Amino acid sequence: MANIRQKTAYLCSACGDDFPKWNGQCPSCKEWGTLSEFKTTRKKNNKRIDLKDSRSLNDVLNTNPGDRICTGINEVDRVLGGGLLAGSLILLGGNPGVGKSTLALHICSELDRKALYISAEESEEQVALRAKRLNVKSENLFLSGANELDGILNHLERIQPDLLIIDSIQTVMNSELDSLPGSPSQIRDCGQRLLETAKQRNVAILIVGHVTKDGTIAGPKMLEHMVDTVLYMEGDDRYDHRILRSEKNRFGATHEIGIFQMDEKGLSEVKNPSEMFLAERSIEVAGTSIYPSLEGTRPILVEVQALVSSANYGTPQRNVNGFDYKRLGMLIAVLEKRMGLAMGSKDVYVNLVGGFKVDDPALDLSIISSIASSAMDKPIDQKIILCGEVGLAGEVRSVNRLEYRLSEAAALGFDTAIVPVANMKNVDKVELNIGVQTVKYVKDVFQLLF
Ligand SMILES: [Zn+2]
Repeated sequence: MANIRQKTAYLCSACGDDFPKWNGQCPSCKEWGTLSEFKTTRKKNNKRIDLKDSRSLNDVLNTNPGDRICTGINEVDRVLGGGLLAGSLILLGGNPGVGKSTLALHICSELDRKALYISAEESEEQVALRAKRLNVKSENLFLSGANELDGILNHLERIQPDLLIIDSIQTVMNSELDSLPGSPSQIRDCGQRLLETAKQRNVAILIVGHVTKDGTIAGPKMLEHMVDTVLYMEGDDRYDHRILRSEKNRFGATHEIGIFQMDEKGLSEVKNPSEMFLAERSIEVAGTSIYPSLEGTRPILVEVQALVSSANYGTPQRNVNGFDYKRLGMLIAVLEKRMGLAMGSKDVYVNLVGGFKVDDPALDLSIISSIASSAMDKPIDQKIILCGEVGLAGEVRSVNRLEYRLSEAAALGFDTAIVPVANMKNVDKVELNIGVQTVKYVKDVFQLLF
């Protein structure tokens, strides 16, 4: 054993950096409790010398960034920023069972190119059966159950696909490493080698990675730093739709989303998500309002529901689904201080219908109005949409790309939009096809609504 140098190091499961000594806090990403011991028999080759010449800015700008391969699925292409980019490494993350493998097979099916699907999760037969059930076109699809990285790279060499899918990164291993598949050191090593392979061979590689609810599995978080594009698939058994979201994209815009309907035949694209999210909307019930959200370039109308009731015991409950909890607290404080609504002894529940999640302060106005509507038991007119950020002084602040939001609302038959006055300076109201009421303060909004 003398000629094999075994090294002990401590690897951070969040960012993937390693250190010679253990620390409670990762020196790189400052996460606590993420370092764990790992042993490697391979020498680190971090000090690889890059012999590439430096290039002028014009050179770089004039270089073709690579060919985009359309997947044939519009929702996927948009989220990717126009299709799969040759030579890029893509992570497709999500909870187990959310439909990542199904989506990957659909991509293989619609793609007009050769694809190699590595499934160490299921046997080749199981994948083939699933592919048959999903009606996957088979001429250009190759399957393998290999789970050893060198074996996978051999298949890649032999088949020369345009797209390689690894399902999942948690089951792939480099047998030279002295650790189990799915461990931080395996995931980092395999991720790194797949990245190099993508660049060298100019092949698009998509890795599937499972995330658990508590985020304990190291893989995806660490891989996010490594890969070019991070896509997350959201949704659960309570709903039959799935949302594909881009969290990172070196070659395109982020925050684009794609929406799919899930049934026994797999995933199908949802062309008009607003209609889907509003399909079961409650009408003439106090506490609901409609918010025109904008995810990437895509406007989607969502129903915001609030329920305010007297707290039965002790501390009042505040509960929110799909929106920042702390921001809810702030909005309740604005209601109490600026609008004089006593909220101190009230339970407040807020829910975005359909399991939708929004990370945009433009949602504030719709939330605060829904809460007030429920508290006062006065319904909001069903043809109204509300959009605006609410500040601590009770002022309504401008939002981005209001025109996109309003045209979606107009298309779906809404007749009035209540929007921040600051947004309307440069907008031609006539072209909008929807009545616009501008407001400066939350109190102006309440005057219009109640
Ligand atoms: Zn770290």
